[in-house]
Amino acid sequence: MTRPYWLDEPAPELPRGRTRGAVDVGIVGAGVTGCACALALADAGLRVRVVDARRVAEGASGRNGGFALRGTAASYDQVVASLGRERALALWQWTEAELQVMGELAGDAFRRLGSLRLAADAEEREDLRDEVEALWADGLEAEWIDAPGGLLTGRFTAAIRHPADAVLQPARMVRRLALRAVEAGAEIVEGRRIRDPAELDAERVVIATDGYPSGLLGELEGLIVPTRGQVIATEPLSERLFEAPHYGRHGFDYWHQAEDGRIVAGGFRDVSLESEFTAEESLTDSVQQALSGFVNDLVGRELRVDYRWAGIFGLVLDLLPVVGELPGAPGIWVAGGYSGHGNVLGFACGRLLARALYGDRDPLLDLFEPARLLG
Ligand SMILES: Cc1cc2nc3c(=O)[nH]c(=O)nc-3n(C[C@H](O)[C@H](O)[C@H](O)COP(=O)(O)OP(=O)(O)OC[C@H]3O[C@@H](n4cnc5c(N)ncnc54)[C@H](O)[C@@H]3O)c2cc1C
Repeated sequence: MTRPYWLDEPAPELPRGRTRGAVDVGIVGAGVTGCACALALADAGLRVRVVDARRVAEGASGRNGGFALRGTAASYDQVVASLGRERALALWQWTEAELQVMGELAGDAFRRLGSLRLAADAEEREDLRDEVEALWADGLEAEWIDAPGGLLTGRFTAAIRHPADAVLQPARMVRRLALRAVEAGAEIVEGRRIRDPAELDAERVVIATDGYPSGLLGELEGLIVPTRGQVIATEPLSERLFEAPHYGRHGFDYWHQAEDGRIVAGGFRDVSLESEFTAEESLTDSVQQALSGFVNDLVGRELRVDYRWAGIFGLVLDLLPVVGELPGAPGIWVAGGYSGHGNVLGFACGRLLARALYGDRDPLLDLFEPARLLG
């Protein structure tokens, strides 16, 4: 019952990687960040080893909602307000370009259906209006829906459709990235917990563990705050009701319909916010009941729940990723802290970090500087 729906799909056998002995880069974490980073490094000819305590994609990368959204966890207008238009636009355009690359690599694990960001009340409608106007002012694609129809009628007061967004079978996508990385020469070691970066026998080390406490982040440990998310997947429905990703109440509710007709719904952390700041991958009655109640209400009948699961993501106060060299630890790098928005950002940051490691540092990294967390 607590097996994530996405991970129930059998994993392809990973061929043994070529690399043995000392490597150029060792990566801790075989989720979307670690696998995207490994693929980019191996493609550039570096010797890479990825090690995970579990199997590929068994962290948040195989336990999430499957939304592949551009941007960051904060809305576009908020990011314009905090970073200025030029940097906000560069950030959004970078994630849009990365979504494109992800689509090319992910095959049928990626469906570009757009996404619907919904307003649950008049106040949220105002927030969405501010965001859509900021997007339009900078020439970014977005559609305004004044009165969402169908089963959304009366429940949501407005929506923004983001046409470039997509939905994933996230575990399938990450397993595919891992396979490609191995084919490009990387070594992936599953089922081994790293307690000291030296165990990787690598010149440089990347910690790609997002919300899972690794014990390897020194002063930063705990500042990327482990936060639990819970998800359900219902029985398959024969009717297609919500193919695209839908999310409302500031992202506290999110759902879509998987290819086989199941409704996958997550969120409702706010029914017991404090207890969800934890690295315990367990379920709670209050959140689980809120999730099934919400879905039943939305669809208008009681649905059987076939899968229930939890995962941990890393929350950062300013809602920007944390990517760069660890303060006071030369050669040890981190990429994580996507604040629940890590499918595209994890992919993009893994690749951004890879570029920095082979000498092509992007100025975007200035925004993600880890030292800022130390105040
Ligand atoms: C319930 C839930 C729903 C979400 N929904 C969405 C969504 O719809 N869209 C979106 O964009 N984002 C979503 N997210 C966030 C997203 O899933 C994550 O940000 C992203 O998957 C992080 O990927 P990662 O590769 O950085 O880390 P993970 O996939 O979490 O991988 C980290 C890995 O590090 C390993 N590890 C940790 N410490 C060690 C160690 N010392 N030694 C060896 N291995 C170690 C763990 O075993 C784990 O496998 C959600 C997250 C959760 C939990």
